[in-house]
Amino acid sequence: MSHRILLVEDEPGLVLTLSDLLSAEGYQVDSATDGVSGLALALAEPFDLLILDVMLPGKNGFEVLRELRQQGRDLAVLMLTAKTQVVDRVVGLKLGADDYLSKPFEPAELLARIEALLRRTRKDAAGATSQFRFADVEVDFDRGTVSKNGQPLAMAGKELQLLRFLIEHRGNVVSRDTLLESVWQYHAGVSSRTVDVHIAWLRQKLEDNPQLPRHIHTLRGVGYRFVP
Ligand code: CA
Repeated sequence: MSHRILLVEDEPGLVLTLSDLLSAEGYQVDSATDGVSGLALALAEPFDLLILDVMLPGKNGFEVLRELRQQGRDLAVLMLTAKTQVVDRVVGLKLGADDYLSKPFEPAELLARIEALLRRTRKDAAGATSQFRFADVEVDFDRGTVSKNGQPLAMAGKELQLLRFLIEHRGNVVSRDTLLESVWQYHAGVSSRTVDVHIAWLRQKLEDNPQLPRHIHTLRGVGYRFVP
């Protein structure tokens, strides 16, 4: 069964491009170009995911999101924000957005975020354990435990979140910016150096030879890639 996505965006060109892109990926897409009709649609029909622009005529994205959550709708919400509007992210997070993407974005980035959100909500709905195994490492994200060769490892919260993100995007290159935004939400004082340091810690704990990592690869100038 294909997932249903509602796109609420007022730029006609973007609506067209995204609708085509998402349909080509096998999603069932509906769209609205203002906040009032977008909210009405989201309340009327069972969507799996909402792509919600912040700046919209009628009601803005925050108002739409607030009303949706007030009505008890827990569908996944991915907000589209302008690049510089850090405050948008903070407000949106408080209102219950699940993820953010700054305009302009790469289609591949949007698709990766959508897949991750749908996977996450599906897991939540099924109450399934989220376990992952690679080489001699076992990860249980529900219990927050990691072991290597049967020996439990002490992991900090951010290390687990980073590992989870890498595993969910395994095989794909993820940039430092993406990691900063998704794992750290750009908290004050966090720099791309933070990402590198946490990657180094993960390698220290998980790799047989941290100097020659087999699972967490660096792509110089691009980012990181996790390979099971
Ligand atoms: Ca807009």
